[in-house]
Amino acid sequence: MKDKDVINRLIRPEIRALRAYHVPEAGGFIKLDAMENPYAWPESLKQEWLKRLHDVAINRYPDPSASVLRAKLKEALAVPAGVELMLGNGSDELIQLILMGVARPGAVVLAPQPTFVMYEMIATFVGMKFVGVPLGRGFALDLGAMRAALRAHQPAVVFLAYPNNPTGNLFDAAAIETILQEAPGLVVVDEAYHAFAGQSFMDGLGRHANLLVMRTLSKQGLAGLRLGILAGDPAWLAEFDKLRLPYNINSLTQASAGFALEHKAVLDEQAARLRADREELHRALAGMPGVQVWPSAANFLLFRTGTPADRVFAALREQRVLIKNLAGAGGALAGCLRVTVGTPEENAAFLAALRNAL
Ligand code: PMP
Repeated sequence: MKDKDVINRLIRPEIRALRAYHVPEAGGFIKLDAMENPYAWPESLKQEWLKRLHDVAINRYPDPSASVLRAKLKEALAVPAGVELMLGNGSDELIQLILMGVARPGAVVLAPQPTFVMYEMIATFVGMKFVGVPLGRGFALDLGAMRAALRAHQPAVVFLAYPNNPTGNLFDAAAIETILQEAPGLVVVDEAYHAFAGQSFMDGLGRHANLLVMRTLSKQGLAGLRLGILAGDPAWLAEFDKLRLPYNINSLTQASAGFALEHKAVLDEQAARLRADREELHRALAGMPGVQVWPSAANFLLFRTGTPADRVFAALREQRVLIKNLAGAGGALAGCLRVTVGTPEENAAFLAALRNAL
């Protein structure tokens, strides 16, 4: 067909070869696939929030630099003096802005693997080369392999998810320090799951000129708002800010996130509950025959069973429980599944469905 020829001629082959990021239909499911916080706000807080939204002037464009929200975030995240923040429509957008800034023919993005898939996808979107360095035993950083890859590939950007998705572990902090010292370019420490880990490289921003720290509000109950946060040296952020589309953070998000930060205790309490429930879920999984489950510093658990992952995933789906099947990723993730920590009731339903499936 003629149209197909035009598509083939105009769309870059690496884009045609991609598969769009797949989000499964989840209506009617117990949804434990996407690391969302399962808890809503108390009704009284919702009412107060709606009052705040009432006063938002949606006939006007938003504050283009979200200055009020950024000031609140600096305080709430204990951002060191001299460090600036840039906000994105989710941290996905921040990854895209960083890579747009450094993309040039032959430039490399490097990350350990397995890790968050968007690093590689966005590298491809902007025409960069992605190099994945296999993780070592227990999904730890293989520092020797990382150092060799830094020398061989001279990456413009290294991404380190801390804790890592989908493995859930925190990499060794000393190994990250070494990478920060030896990397020829930027190192982005992606702390999307910080609320469940308690460890951070935010303090390293003063020590390392090539460090950027990324956070998101998505895992703390605000996934629908889409707010990602990049902390770093103002000189770096000034460059990336030129690539940010004006008004990327809409007025409702600015007002809602600002409101949420005023009630940070509610978010922190939910995170603490999820951390405790994570340990309980871990114990329950570890006690099931044939199940291998990895330790996690995030709000999800990676596990493997004696039954093929595709079968387990399908059997859970039939029981209206949705988790993430990682079997397709192969390699170190062969046979692996990932479950998000939900409410105690959701976790119990998941465990019951899993027992049936095995
Ligand atoms: N980084 C990591 C490590 C993630 O797992 C995710 C979400 N799965 C993101 C970033 C993106 O988060 P968001 O765009 O919702 O801020």
